[in-house]
Amino acid sequence: MLQNIDGKDLNFEDALILASSGNIDEICEAADRIRRRYYSNIVTFSSNVFIPLTNYCRNRCGYCGFRHKPGDPSGIIMRPDEVKNVLIKGKEARCTEALFTFGEKPEEKYFEVKKFLEELGYSSIIDYLYDLCLMALEIGLLPHSNPGILDKSEIRKLKQVNASIGLMLESSSKRLCEAGGPHEHSPGKLPEKRIKTVKAAGELKVPFTSGILVGIGETLEERIESIYVLKKLHEKYDHIQEIIIQNFNPKPNTPMEDFSPPTLNDIILTAAITRLVFKGKTNIQIPPNLNIGQERELLISGMNDWGGISPITVDEINPNHHWPSKIKLGKITREAGFSLRERLPIYPKYIQKNYISSNVAPLVHELADNKGYRKM
Ligand code: SF4
Repeated sequence: MLQNIDGKDLNFEDALILASSGNIDEICEAADRIRRRYYSNIVTFSSNVFIPLTNYCRNRCGYCGFRHKPGDPSGIIMRPDEVKNVLIKGKEARCTEALFTFGEKPEEKYFEVKKFLEELGYSSIIDYLYDLCLMALEIGLLPHSNPGILDKSEIRKLKQVNASIGLMLESSSKRLCEAGGPHEHSPGKLPEKRIKTVKAAGELKVPFTSGILVGIGETLEERIESIYVLKKLHEKYDHIQEIIIQNFNPKPNTPMEDFSPPTLNDIILTAAITRLVFKGKTNIQIPPNLNIGQERELLISGMNDWGGISPITVDEINPNHHWPSKIKLGKITREAGFSLRERLPIYPKYIQKNYISSNVAPLVHELADNKGYRKM
């Protein structure tokens, strides 16, 4: 099945047979061959500041260690001056990306968030985010927002001030939303709602980041199905600039704290199958901080991007998993026979396709070189 796979469209049934076969070495060889054909030996990353605007969230995912728990004094809603401070430090540290990641529609469920927003003159977190993205652009950082599910008017609005927007599909399995599943208490994790957001972003030509979360209780078949859901959306709209293969990490004091994380082979195999499915049609990212010490092994999977790493902020979703420095990541990447290259939160292809709003375009062109990577 792997012979002549480079030019063949791999269907779901064959992808599942391959993933179940245990031939991980041969699958990775094929994935690596395809990766080199389309991306040469380049592995990219972006330099960001992580801005956890709020940890209030209307969802309650079984694996989440980020979300504020009612009654806990640790609720965060960042004020404009706090955000500004991080943005300025990011600019000084030569970052190009302002990564806004926060809980979904918090004002729907939490009075304190609603009140905070109203006092600043906003009726929703999305309106507040819009102005903070404008602030980031003024300071010289390109916003990439992960606000959870969005309707079309919200995406249209955010496109005006974002270089790219993200929403993990996580899984297309409705089963995970049933009683006892990790998404039982998370209305925003219903697959059809997430698919609708990715689709609307495609219709609006937004450079989009999505991906799957591996190891939250999905079967291998469901994992492969999720990859094909993203493939179908990308075939129609050609807007998914990267697919993240993210591993579930058990967090203390969460309902899933005793669940086993996926193995390294699970991650490598999932990335390699994704590469065989997508060929050169999108970038595949594996976060290095969730796989410290295993980066070299990951590079054989057909992946070609490390995602955002930050020189000054921590990954607030996984605060115990520190990002490697750019120097360390460059060394690991080079020693594995690849070359590390810095990109912007919008990939070169989407700069060329001009999927950029007029507010964002001047800064993209100021920061990009003639190939669309970050200007040195
Ligand atoms: S994982 Fe995201 S959506 Fe789920 S509870 Fe945590 S912050 Fe909310």
